[in-house]
Amino acid sequence: MSLEHSIAIDGPAGAGKSTVARMLAHALGYRYVSTGDLYRALALEVIRRGLDPYDEAAVVDVAKSVCIRVERSECGGQRTILNNEDVTEEIRSAEVDSVVSPVSVYSQVRKHMVEAQRAIAYDADVVMDGRDIGTVVLAESAHKFYLTASAEERARRRQLDYARQGRHVDLADLVEEIEKRDTIDSTRQISPLRPAPDAVVIDCTTLSPDEVVDTMLAALRRPASCFTLSQNS
Ligand code: C5P
Repeated sequence: MSLEHSIAIDGPAGAGKSTVARMLAHALGYRYVSTGDLYRALALEVIRRGLDPYDEAAVVDVAKSVCIRVERSECGGQRTILNNEDVTEEIRSAEVDSVVSPVSVYSQVRKHMVEAQRAIAYDADVVMDGRDIGTVVLAESAHKFYLTASAEERARRRQLDYARQGRHVDLADLVEEIEKRDTIDSTRQISPLRPAPDAVVIDCTTLSPDEVVDTMLAALRRPASCFTLSQNS
């Protein structure tokens, strides 16, 4: 498969990337891939082994020794497998939320992850979401989006996700956690979170997922030259 056809979606935590990526993948008949789940599985293993997420050598050792893979699930979603165990639900915990960004900063971890993600995209046309998809993983892609939303709105959406799992988490705590993760993700030295120069930026604060997907589909229908021009309009 050519990476040019695959679709890259980046943006900060809680911007709604996974919801719209899944919907867009369904609309196009592409495979949906959430790259954050691979980093989350690594964070879970670091927690399980009782390691310090700030100990680079220890985290890199884990990244080299674990087997993490993602599989398509029946409903167009994704299941995450860590050493043959399905950890799809476990990687969404608050503890993993707090460890995942620190373990994602290391260059050897990222090299390993980027190779795995590119291998998936060579195998199938994908809609892939993450933090460095348009800038690194699918840098060759002709179709890049960067989704943003206010920190308060993103925290509110996260709170709803937790409520669906039967858990109440304070909004203020979620805003703090999200802002902390944004800071680590966007200031790290290796492939920090930022829009690719040719990405279409969409502020999703007041848009529904359907509206975001419609905006993306409209952008994808435009000829390549207009597509590039549209970010400045
Ligand atoms: O997308 P999600 O919020 O599940 O990602 C969890 C974390 O994984 C991010 O906050 C970031 O630290 C890391 N990540 C990354 N690069 C990606 C995807 C996720 O560094 N491509």
